Amino acid sequence: MLILVTGGAGYIGSHTCVALLEAGYSVVVADNLANSNKTVLVEVEKITGKKVQFYLIDVTDEANLDRLFKTHQFDGVMHFAGLKAVGESVEKPLLYYHNNILSTITLAKKCLEYGVKHFVFSSSATVYGENPSPLLETMELLPRTSPYGETKAISEQILKDLGRVNEHFAVALLRYFNPVGAHQSALIGEKPDGVPNNLMPFITQVARGKLKKLRVFGNDYPTIDGTGVRDYIHVCDLAEGHVAALEKLKPGVCIYNLGTGRGTSVLELIETFERVNGLKLPYEITARRPGDIAECYADVSKAKRELCWQARRTVADMCLDAWRFEENN
Ligand code: NAD
Ligand code: UDP
Repeated sequence: MLILVTGGAGYIGSHTCVALLEAGYSVVVADNLANSNKTVLVEVEKITGKKVQFYLIDVTDEANLDRLFKTHQFDGVMHFAGLKAVGESVEKPLLYYHNNILSTITLAKKCLEYGVKHFVFSSSATVYGENPSPLLETMELLPRTSPYGETKAISEQILKDLGRVNEHFAVALLRYFNPVGAHQSALIGEKPDGVPNNLMPFITQVARGKLKKLRVFGNDYPTIDGTGVRDYIHVCDLAEGHVAALEKLKPGVCIYNLGTGRGTSVLELIETFERVNGLKLPYEITARRPGDIAECYADVSKAKRELCWQARRTVADMCLDAWRFEENN
């Protein structure tokens, strides 16, 4: 079985390439390297002892994609390629709408043209907006989170509409919660460009001394200790969730939350990181970050029931692996 992985040189895509190769699939990666480096795929090959075919392609470019689909008969597509910085999407909405929506349209079009029936899409818990947690796949999506969030909601809608009229097209919309951590080899992990936006890479860079101090954005939320609560999921669990979804795909559109179902506050994450790694993290409490919600965690019963998949790595594992990767890079 040959799977096209768009954005496969990126953080989640590279870990999923490992999971796919380990499960016996062959992998072709298409990535324009807008936010990644090709050397990541060498590491993927090192971890798995298997080959990855790479194409430097922008997946919004139909002519290039067409050549790719002519060259390979894919059994399925996993579509990770996309821009993901929420703040940047507010500043540059057109860039986000163009890249994230056109890539989904172009890729889906090629799948239908070339008879590729299996499509797995990287969506996000951000589509739930301010719905109360635990978040359920059946909840109505609340509009206007950010242009980034909109690109996910719109891409989902496009794929749902296609699924309705193409009886053989099988789509999984995977709503990720907060992916963190790294492969335990420390060969691949998250390498944000510049100052990270997300909490875990910020923590590892403070621990490393690259950044002076962590800012905890608000301690007056109605949560266990007043700080924001999120459902952190180990990136390798997330990657395995993709393989499970691919294996269970059936015609139509299925939506799955990929999270752990457990919320962790900012202070709890800091405490766990310090404890398991024997480090101290300097931090200060500051104002809330605009647009943040108090808590966001998944109801994961559907993925467990239908995909026979559940996250098995702990928050301690996430902290250990994230730090091991930072230290090795
Ligand atoms: P990433 O930036 O590490 O990986 C995305 C990859 O896509 C990069 O390698 C980038 O070069 C590539 N890319 C972007 N636009 C492209 C294009 N037009 N053509 C070809 N390649 C292109 O991000 P990630 O964290 O691995 O995220 C993967 C997917 O999961 C994204 O769609 C993202 O929106 C989604 N997602 C991520 C998170 C998260 O917290 N990391 C959460 C929810 C959803
Ligand atoms: N957060 C923080 N300091 C940071 C980055 C994030 O306190 O430097 C908090 C943020 O307010 C939220 C949680 O950590 O409550 C997770 O933030 P992240 O940006 O990683 O994920 P998201 O908010 O997009 O789910």
